[in-house]
Amino acid sequence: MTAHRPIRTAGDLAEAGLIDASAEEAISRVASRYAIAISPAVADLIDRADPHDPIARQFVPDAAELTLTPEERADPIGDGAHSPVPGIVHRYPDRVLLKAVHVCPVYCRFCFRREMVGPQGLGTLTPAELDAAIAYLAAHPEIWEVILTGGDPLVLSPRRLQEILERLGAIEHVKVVRFHTRVPVVEPHRIDADLIAALKSSGKATYVALHANHPRELTGEARGAAARLIDAGIVMISQSVLLKGVNDDPEVLAELMRAFVETRIKPYYLHHPDLAPGTGHFRLSIEEGQALVASLRGRVSGLCQPTYILDIPGGYGKAVISASSIEAEGGGCYTVTDFRGNAHTYPPQG
Ligand code: SF4
Repeated sequence: MTAHRPIRTAGDLAEAGLIDASAEEAISRVASRYAIAISPAVADLIDRADPHDPIARQFVPDAAELTLTPEERADPIGDGAHSPVPGIVHRYPDRVLLKAVHVCPVYCRFCFRREMVGPQGLGTLTPAELDAAIAYLAAHPEIWEVILTGGDPLVLSPRRLQEILERLGAIEHVKVVRFHTRVPVVEPHRIDADLIAALKSSGKATYVALHANHPRELTGEARGAAARLIDAGIVMISQSVLLKGVNDDPEVLAELMRAFVETRIKPYYLHHPDLAPGTGHFRLSIEEGQALVASLRGRVSGLCQPTYILDIPGGYGKAVISASSIEAEGGGCYTVTDFRGNAHTYPPQG
């Protein structure tokens, strides 16, 4: 049965048949620390008969979130270290994050900003903070790209988005605007003509990076929402997180990447899970991740290959962590391994 409002509490989860009544107390403790929201479209996608359902695992809270490990950090990718004014993260010279809102339509249990998002999170920028953030962008001519993230920027109304984007549009040196969102998957009906017009209202090259982690998320409705964005001239790329029990399987990962490409979304980043608090049950080792990513080579088209990356804890930026298929040998020679695992020699530069 389709629910009409988001699931937000342990009681809602029990009522929707997503947790046992006996788990309600532990889940209430999780809820007091980390936000819960499951949109009706996501609740419908969950297979309640499967105790290991990969959609449920991403959104239904688990008592394992109460277990913290020493290496975990409240700000795993170090946003705070690079935030000159509220709402701006300026980690790389030519691009910034603009975090206007810290609310999401769903709360992912593995979220790397879980200490910042939700009703107890950093909230929405005040008008004065937004003015200061826009002034920062205008005062830094090296900023070529602005990435609206959060939170999920697409929770803002088209009117609010348009106000922000028209201000970005007036900054000559900003050439590209990118949105990071889950909305086309979790609330696909919101991708309508008004929202699309607002997204494009900066007049800059506009990209939407869709966050999805399992091929079942690319439903007909989600694909339709993406098609509306793309047909309107917006370029779409993907972002996924490699997650134990969700997509740590060569066939699932291949299907996910194919689903993106079929939807005209170019696979972009596959993130190694961050050291966010209470997310140890999602993390796999880098070696396991490298083997999974290597399994995509040959298995799926070159169009379906994402870049496997790690956000270096502490705010030092991203590093590509795919296993290399080339190794230097003596005398300037290299050994290159093909997708079947066979080694070949590549000659020295003549
Ligand atoms: S949508 Fe993004 S910011 Fe929001 S909870 Fe999920 S991972 Fe975190």
